[in-house]
Amino acid sequence: MANSGQKVVLITGCSSGIGLRIAVTLAKDEKKRYHVIATMRDLKKKDKLVEAAGDAYGKTLMLLPLDVCSDESVKQCINNVKERHIDILINNAGVGLLGPVESISIEEMKRVFETNFFGVVRMIKEVMPDMKKRRSGHIIVMSSVMGLQGVVFNDVYTASKFAMEGFCESMAVQLMKFNIRLSMIEPGPVHTEFETKMMEDVAKMEYPGVDADTVRYFKDVYLPSSIDIFEAMGQTPEDIAKCTKKVIE
Ligand code: NDP
Repeated sequence: MANSGQKVVLITGCSSGIGLRIAVTLAKDEKKRYHVIATMRDLKKKDKLVEAAGDAYGKTLMLLPLDVCSDESVKQCINNVKERHIDILINNAGVGLLGPVESISIEEMKRVFETNFFGVVRMIKEVMPDMKKRRSGHIIVMSSVMGLQGVVFNDVYTASKFAMEGFCESMAVQLMKFNIRLSMIEPGPVHTEFETKMMEDVAKMEYPGVDADTVRYFKDVYLPSSIDIFEAMGQTPEDIAKCTKKVIE
C-alpha cells in the first residue's frame, strides 16, 4: 500500500520494453516517492519485471492484470486500486503494424486502434472522475514521432497515434481547469520487442494483389533502411524511462 506522500503511479503494458523499464525506474526511486502499480494483460509474463524490480517488488511495486482493449478489465483493474486513487497514469501499452495497406486486413487495423487509441481513451475515462474530484493528477501518453509525422508503410500505426494525439490535445484543455496535466512523450526508435514483433508479422506477410513495385520497395528498400535507422538511432528503454521520470517530477 502507498505511504502518505507517495504518488500512486499506474502504468499499462509492463511485461516488456519501455513500460517495464519505467515501472522499475520509478519503483527504485532513491527517495521512494512512487508507489508503482505495474499492469500487464498476462501476469504469466511477470518474471522479467519481477527480476528487474528486485527488492522493490512487493514494496514500491505491485502488479495487477490489465488488458486495455477490454472495458471490463479496465474497470476491474481501477476498482482494485485503493479508493480508485491514481496520481499518475502512464498509458504505455501499444502495438505496431507495418506493411502495404493492401496486405493488412481491416481486423488487424482495428486491433491497432483498439489498443493504441481506444485503450488510452478507456483508461482516461476511468481515472478522470477521481482526478477531477481531487483536482489533481497527471496523465502521460506514450505516443511516437509517428504521432507527429506520417511514415511510409506505417500508415495505420501512424493514424492510431495521430488520433490519440488529437484526442489528448483536446482533452488537455478541459483537464487543465481541474489542475490535471496531460503530457505526451514522442520517442523515435527504441530497442524493445516492439520491432521484433513487427518483423515477425512481416515475415508471415502475404502480398496478394499488391503491385510488384510496392512489394519490391517495401522488402528491398524500406525494410533494410528501417533496420539501419533502428541500429543507428535507436534509444534504449532506459532513456525513455529517464525522460518519463523527468516529465512527472
Ligand atoms: P513492447 O512490445 O516491448 O511493449 C508493448 C507493451 O504493450 C507490452 O507489455 C504488451 O503486452 C503491451 N500491450 C499490448 N497490447 C496490450 C493490451 N491490449 N493491454 C495491455 N497491454 C498491452 O514495445 P515498446 O515498449 O517499445 O512500446 C511501448 C509503447 O511505446 C507503445 O505505445 C509504442 O507505440 C511506443 N513507442 C515505441 C517505439 C519503439 O521504437 N519501440 C517508438 C515510439 C513509441 P504483451 O506482452 O501482453 O503483448
